[in-house]
Amino acid sequence: MSIYRDDGIVLRTHKLGEADRIVTLMTRGRGKVRAVAKGVRRTRSKFGARLEPLSHVTMMCWQGRELDIVNQAEVLETFRGVREDLGRVTKAYTLLEVVDQLAQEGHANPRLYEMVLGALRALEEEDSPLLVPAFLLKVLALEGSAPTVDVCVSCAAPDDLVAFDLTEGGVLCRSCRRGRSLSPEGLELLRRILGGGLASALREPAGTLADELTELATEATEVHLERRLRTVHSSPTD
Ligand SMILES: [Zn+2]
Repeated sequence: MSIYRDDGIVLRTHKLGEADRIVTLMTRGRGKVRAVAKGVRRTRSKFGARLEPLSHVTMMCWQGRELDIVNQAEVLETFRGVREDLGRVTKAYTLLEVVDQLAQEGHANPRLYEMVLGALRALEEEDSPLLVPAFLLKVLALEGSAPTVDVCVSCAAPDDLVAFDLTEGGVLCRSCRRGRSLSPEGLELLRRILGGGLASALREPAGTLADELTELATEATEVHLERRLRTVHSSPTD
């Protein structure tokens, strides 16, 4: 068996047998990795609470045929501020769920890794209402599925853009309208997030505009993933 070292963010964990866990991580160098952490559920485990969802870790693993085996793990960042705030932890779990859906085993996706790490760091700093929708829209763009936001996707009209439908590929004018309605402010914010104005978008306050973008980005992501986002539609105590 060969051994490797990589950095990763723990996406989720599952019990395995009496004392072990399967840990799913988004790694910098190898995409999604599933690895067994032996003895992790014993109180005197050498891994302790290091391999919990959200942790940014550096680890050494034995490469296995199906599952790798964690040999060493050190925490780089715990995101304590996120963990101790229910609202923020729910948002963080949405980011992790989307990454879990998009990342593939054996395929490095360093930009997706950097995006989720950057988003978790931003969330640790500040609970921005636009963080999750901005992340989702940026991920759609990374996937090559950025919505068209400059002209109507159906007739190329530049004005009177009043609707949004990702199945159609973006915004729609009044005569072509279908999907969900889009406010002028929503359109402006959408253009800012997808255009280079992310930092200013993250300073937008909570309110109807943030809610509109959150619903739009969630729906667009669900269309892209062809499934509902569990962490958005269920309470964390389910
Ligand atoms: Zn049109």
